[in-house]
Amino acid sequence: MKTYAPKLSFEFFPTRTPEGRAKQVVTRKQLSQFRPDFFSCTSGAGGSTREGTLQTVQDILNEGTPAAPHLPCIGMDAGEIKELLQQYKQMGVRHLVALRGDIPSGIGSGMGGLRYANELVELVKNEFGNDFHIEVAAYPEYHPQSRSAEDDINHFVRKVKAGADSAITQYFYNADAYFRFVDDVQGRGVDIPIVPGIMPVASFSKLARFSDACGAEIPRWLRLKLQSYADDTAAIKALALDVVTEMCARLLREGAPGLHFYTLNQAGLSSTICQRLGY
Ligand code: FAD
Repeated sequence: MKTYAPKLSFEFFPTRTPEGRAKQVVTRKQLSQFRPDFFSCTSGAGGSTREGTLQTVQDILNEGTPAAPHLPCIGMDAGEIKELLQQYKQMGVRHLVALRGDIPSGIGSGMGGLRYANELVELVKNEFGNDFHIEVAAYPEYHPQSRSAEDDINHFVRKVKAGADSAITQYFYNADAYFRFVDDVQGRGVDIPIVPGIMPVASFSKLARFSDACGAEIPRWLRLKLQSYADDTAAIKALALDVVTEMCARLLREGAPGLHFYTLNQAGLSSTICQRLGY
């Protein structure tokens, strides 16, 4: 198994208002103290947040941190994707998160030309060679639409073999699922870094809704315990901080190549976890 210097990155989503944009600058400044390898910015499938993502990426670059735009390919044709990649390249972007994206209702899965992330990775490699470091998504608890665990692993391996340089996982609260996934794909010749995606918990109800949709499991004991705190957000945050920090510490101790935080545009919880971990 190869070893890597632990990586650190933080994810944002584009804001809609000038106030949101200004607040995000402050949030990133707080998180910059941990010297992240990059800040990433999500993007809506079908180009739905295109301007906001471009603006956020430009802001990040202006602040002097490498930026990694997320690029969901569904709902875009190859020409549009190439144009966008060219624009990113000219801006100075060297890092991408290549995704399929979630199909917006009303859009057929074949409409945009590309159907799966492996096809996007191939397109980036064919058209741009090594101009971009390509991240792909990994699902230690398996993608909710996959036909089987085995099928999902095969598709992940195919995406890596198409030229992905590293991967970021969907969030999880069960480190064993992550280690099992890494073992399984390494057994099939994958040796790129697979960085755990970390979701700090601010609100139980929102997390529960989101987790059901994306197929991430909240372990029963944690779900029940968080539920029992009802509206006591301080208690929810305190328990979740302990649980997530302990999981991060174990992940790093046992060989995870770094951490990627889903910040939800907030610095507080991610900062506390990084501080506790000694970043
Ligand atoms: P794929 O790797 O294409 O997989 C999608 C599904 O199809 C899986 O079930 C897989 O098993 C199956 N599959 C894959 N290849 C094939 C094939 N060749 N033939 C048949 N089946 C196949 N979404 C956004 O819209 N915007 C974002 O900014 C965004 N950022 C994300 C960041 C991270 C780190 C992660 C983990 C997810 C992100 N998502 C984002 C969500 C992601 O787009 C969804 O989970 C989406 O449903 C799958 O994207 P993917 O790139 O993993 O797809």
